[in-house]
Amino acid sequence: MSFRQTHLLGIEPLQTTEITTLLDLADRYADDNRRGRTQRNELAGLTMINMFFENSTRTQASFEIAGRRMGADVMSMAMQASSIRKGETLIDTAMTLNAMRPDILVVRHPHSGAVDLLAQKVNCAVLNAGDGRHEHPTQALLDALTIRRAKGRLHRLSIAICGDIAHSRVARSNIMLLGKMENRIRLIAPPTLMPSGVQDLGCEVFDDMERGLQDVDVVMMLRLQKERMDGGFIPSEREYYHRYGLDAQKLAFAKEDAIVMHPGPMNRGVEIDGTIADDINRSVIQTQVEMGVAVRMAALDLLARNLRAARGAAALEANGGVMA
Ligand code: ASP
Repeated sequence: MSFRQTHLLGIEPLQTTEITTLLDLADRYADDNRRGRTQRNELAGLTMINMFFENSTRTQASFEIAGRRMGADVMSMAMQASSIRKGETLIDTAMTLNAMRPDILVVRHPHSGAVDLLAQKVNCAVLNAGDGRHEHPTQALLDALTIRRAKGRLHRLSIAICGDIAHSRVARSNIMLLGKMENRIRLIAPPTLMPSGVQDLGCEVFDDMERGLQDVDVVMMLRLQKERMDGGFIPSEREYYHRYGLDAQKLAFAKEDAIVMHPGPMNRGVEIDGTIADDINRSVIQTQVEMGVAVRMAALDLLARNLRAARGAAALEANGGVMA
């Protein structure tokens, strides 16, 4: 099996073979889920804790369902109500939880790098469910699986990522994953919403939708991350929608069979027209949510196998190389 990671902290450290291994497994889980074969036991006996320090609807629910389907004992901490409110640091909270010996921690945090830091302090598998503007690896993996199923491949596609790229961890993880798979990536945003150093990302850069969407296979829209903005990045939402919101007129510049994606939550009438979002012939937004569960099941499965193997090896060593 070609998946060597102890944690899933980002797309950056993953080899293309590891990405493919994970997607192949997730593909099988997606089919099983559709057939109603949802009860598995690969994670039986393992405890998984969800720690979300930032709001989430679909990611938290998706991880919870994935963990339960794989047979883990799943617990979601209400972080808003936790000791963090009383001034405890992230690391203290992590160490306290670590002492309870969980096997898997799923963490979302508003600060870039916080999940990596936490992973260094605990002795269980850690999955990054989104850290600041840094990475959101399972989102990129579920997007990749959605594209692969819709287009029949995950290479040599022309993919436009549009909107608030500067503040988006979804964009960062997708740029890395789709780049590793040798796709042509176009970034479309007003200059104020382009990240600094954009020219080093290996993507084509556009500030208007008409030129940027020309003949693309995939149109990926992003939410305006207002919670990460501290000033006037756009003149008004109306103006933004007029220039960058995806409507039928702008979508017509893409290929006739181009698919439309959005990670959610969506602001209808701000970054996307509601009719496009609901058009089952173009929009794969619901499929993204569906693939999210399958991808998380696969990620949990692969990390649990590595965790069990590492623990087995440690036990063997402690036993002087003799099998117990
Ligand atoms: N749900 C995604 C995230 O957590 C996208 C978004 O919030 O706009 O980054």
